[in-house]
Amino acid sequence: MVGDRPGPLADLSSLACGRLTINLAALADNYRLLAAKAAPTACAAVVKADAYGLGIDRVVPVLAQAGARVFFAALPEEGRKVRGLLDGLGATADVYVLAGLLPGSETLYMNESVIPVLNDLGQAETWANLSAHRNEGPLPCALHIDSGMNRLGLDLEELERLLARPDLLAALDLRVVMSHLCSADEPENPLNQAQHAIFSKVIARLPNSAASLANSSGIFLGARYHFDLARPGVALYGCNPTPGRPNPMHQVVTLEGKILQVRGIDAPQSVGYGATYRVTGPGRIATVGVGYADGYLRSLSNKGRAFAQGVALPLVGRVSMDLTTFDISALADDSLKPGDWVELIGANVTLDEVGQAAGTIGYEILTDLGRRYHRVYKDA
Ligand SMILES: *Cc1c(COP(=O)(O)O)cnc(C)c1O
Repeated sequence: MVGDRPGPLADLSSLACGRLTINLAALADNYRLLAAKAAPTACAAVVKADAYGLGIDRVVPVLAQAGARVFFAALPEEGRKVRGLLDGLGATADVYVLAGLLPGSETLYMNESVIPVLNDLGQAETWANLSAHRNEGPLPCALHIDSGMNRLGLDLEELERLLARPDLLAALDLRVVMSHLCSADEPENPLNQAQHAIFSKVIARLPNSAASLANSSGIFLGARYHFDLARPGVALYGCNPTPGRPNPMHQVVTLEGKILQVRGIDAPQSVGYGATYRVTGPGRIATVGVGYADGYLRSLSNKGRAFAQGVALPLVGRVSMDLTTFDISALADDSLKPGDWVELIGANVTLDEVGQAAGTIGYEILTDLGRRYHRVYKDA
């Protein structure tokens, strides 16, 4: 402002109340770290859900550059997008879609060089039939075996029926046989061993395909879980694949919230909706312009924390749609003012901590990251 005239319109991104910084160099470092940990096993990259919320169009080129040659998406549309990005780079890589050969998706898989992960015998039959009618040889696919998750994939009985059909198998270019661990983040859980045993028996009968079992945490269960292809997702983006132990990954995501107002409270009073928090002594509350509409979950109410100037600042009261309040009494007066930023996720308040405080996991914090943030990508 000059006198009583407003200044020119600011760059609107500078007016955002949340700033999300995504460190692509750390992402590349994480891919290389996981690939080294898995070696000599090959290392894919799981980029479902818009690369766990971080932006598929920025993430895929960085991972391809870092050496990823196999990508997994969840949905056909996601797979198509990954394929387009890789083609644009001139990168050769296989793109698999976990959702499988849904009715109506066949043409997309055939025309866009996206590979379906077959989840049942019917899908295997459909894909084999399409292969046969094409006269260009078997179409590529992966096969998902359910070894105990009871979520996606052929159960063992269905697998027997497939194995009893050599004609069917011969009509498929079965590149990967995969299964998924349900408790890889708990190294002591006997289900890991049980799934490993089932999967080992399965792949012994399909020896011409690459075998893939380990997600991020699975890579850290030891080399016997690596097989031929690892499939990390969340660790690429900085979550700890070894809960309870130090995080081996680099931090990729920093979320900062802008302070809109600071108020001193002298007499005992409550803060926020439902008056769930009472200020007793004199104190100061900072109101930050990030709320549950931004994926800063309401379940963080009275549980989360922010960080500024070396000090942890407790989240007090309920998280509302666009606003969250923090007790900044521990900082000197005037040390924070409107327009200043506080860390909501980052080096001091980790993704895993935020997930735990919210009663969920870092995965959900990532995939909920809001659309109103000013996103800053730090280049690899
Ligand atoms: C999501 C997913 C992964 C990646 O898991 P992370 O725990 O994020 O490493 C791997 N495989 C399958 C089948 C998945 O659904």
